[in-house]
Amino acid sequence: MALLGRLVVAAMPLAPKFIVRMVASRYVAGSNLEDAVSTMNNLSSEGACFTVDVLGEEIRSLEEAEFFLNEYSMLIDSISKNNIDAHISIKPTAFGLLIDPETAFQNILNITRKASENDIFVRLDMEDSRVTDSTIELMLKIRSEGIDNIGVVLQGRLLRTTSDILEICGILGPKADFRICKGIYLEPGEIAHTGYKEIVEATNQAIESMMASGAYTAIASHDYPVINHSLSLLEKYDLFPDSENISFPGKGPGYEFQFLLGVRGDLRRKLAKEGHLTRIYVPYGSQWYEYGIRRLNENPEVATHVLKAILLPWTNRR
Ligand code: FAD
Repeated sequence: MALLGRLVVAAMPLAPKFIVRMVASRYVAGSNLEDAVSTMNNLSSEGACFTVDVLGEEIRSLEEAEFFLNEYSMLIDSISKNNIDAHISIKPTAFGLLIDPETAFQNILNITRKASENDIFVRLDMEDSRVTDSTIELMLKIRSEGIDNIGVVLQGRLLRTTSDILEICGILGPKADFRICKGIYLEPGEIAHTGYKEIVEATNQAIESMMASGAYTAIASHDYPVINHSLSLLEKYDLFPDSENISFPGKGPGYEFQFLLGVRGDLRRKLAKEGHLTRIYVPYGSQWYEYGIRRLNENPEVATHVLKAILLPWTNRR
């Protein structure tokens, strides 16, 4: 299967763009803000809420950050105006984190302040291991300004994640708020688990450690061993759907399940029907082609998943 993924990735540049667009339309809301709003309006009836991502990352000059500042600002206005239950997801390198961390901080602080005024939560997506430290620092620095509507993502595959959870929970207490995922970037064995079984075990341990610390825990996985393990922990930590113990993101203990747009919708709908909060990650933007190719190159496993979803649609309904 891994070889198949690599073959698909190698063949991608040869595929006509309209075919790539057809495949991508399952996973990307469209190229502009209106597309994202109409996708969310269509999916609201399924009992889900959303986190919206403007596609793009790692700018080459700080001027490029202006585009993301404007787009996220319009996104916040649009979420409020349309009364949509949505967070925003931000890639810090799109705001200059790898060029000038202080400017990136100011940029993201401005966006987070505006989001806070509109009661919208901000999630800092976690990118590759070059920026793990600086992304966590950025979140903590914004929290130290007294702003609570921001949380970070940790990746189960990284060996450092257990100590990151303890450190962040030590500083923020029950106001710590995490998205936990396996991690899409294939990192070297010196700093990360590399086998499927180890990654699942480490991700499951991280989920338990977050819940045990009383943090808000957003479980971002489509994998049954991770979802079933999380479900089995809920009662232990008094987090079942009707529990009075459940708080809002960034404000105390709680949990939710997060899914990528277009992936395992039947499982998401089942969890929502059982009363669990479910959130869909909705990416949009003109850079959908470049972004998709880069993700596939970084992790050819994704190509295998996409191919499987096309050839065996019953295994992965939208
Ligand atoms: P897998 O074992 O990879 O997938 C389980 C099954 O889900 C597959 O068999 C397949 O049927 C289906 N599936 C999974 N992915 C796809 C896909 N792309 N297309 C089609 N089918 C698929 N990673 C980061 O490094 N940083 C982040 O900030 C980050 N944010 C995320 C936010 C959300 C809401 C989600 C759901 C994931 C995020 N990820 C992020 C990606 C994550 O780390 C994994 O790479 C990804 O979710 C695949 O892992 P999995 O746990 O779903 O398990």
